[in-house]
Amino acid sequence: MLANGSLDQVLILVVEDEPDMAREIAAQLTSLGYRARIAETGAAGLEAARRDRAALLIVDRMLNGIDSLPMIETLRNEGIRSPVLVVSALASVDDRIRGLKAGGDDYLIKPFAMDELAARVEALLRRSSDTSATTLQVGPLKLDLIARSASRGERTLDLLPAEFKLLEYLVRHSGQTVTRAMLLEDVWHYRFMPRTNLVDVHIGKLRRKLDLPGDPPLIRSVRRSGFILHAGE
Ligand code: CA
Repeated sequence: MLANGSLDQVLILVVEDEPDMAREIAAQLTSLGYRARIAETGAAGLEAARRDRAALLIVDRMLNGIDSLPMIETLRNEGIRSPVLVVSALASVDDRIRGLKAGGDDYLIKPFAMDELAARVEALLRRSSDTSATTLQVGPLKLDLIARSASRGERTLDLLPAEFKLLEYLVRHSGQTVTRAMLLEDVWHYRFMPRTNLVDVHIGKLRRKLDLPGDPPLIRSVRRSGFILHAGE
């Protein structure tokens, strides 16, 4: 899990070129119990993000006339996955979409109320502490989300990328029934439901890799709805 244990250790990087705005945001964050650090240019923000491992970045869209989206794209390309809240006076739907596509996680239009900023920050941090773990474990199953490798007990599983994605999804929903429709939508990104046995074929392959003869089966079928991963917890 993220090193989010106590609130006062959570560092938020504020990349904002207007000093008054930066100070106001930082003061708000501090009053909420976070640590805030300010960078005034995209270059300084990039450097601080690489160095400080902030739990969250708040990035102004225009920094001294320079669009900050390429900086966010650079962060993402370098594997820095901290959530980014883009704040901007650019309010069009296109701008919002571009901001999210560049790797921003949320987009807040200026001017905004500080309470609104606080609510967004808290929501993003909550979401990221759920998803930013680099390993997942249920029972004997262990997934390394960075190396994209998986093991059951001592045995390394030799999974194809699609099988890994499927297993990751099942592990994230372990103990819950996941339907074929959920899998097609969330794992394969189908927008419509084709008549296909794609899911069953992949589940079958995954099962053969997960369970050796004599192992308790980890994936069970749920009649007429889908599957459930039970890893003995
Ligand atoms: Ca600005």
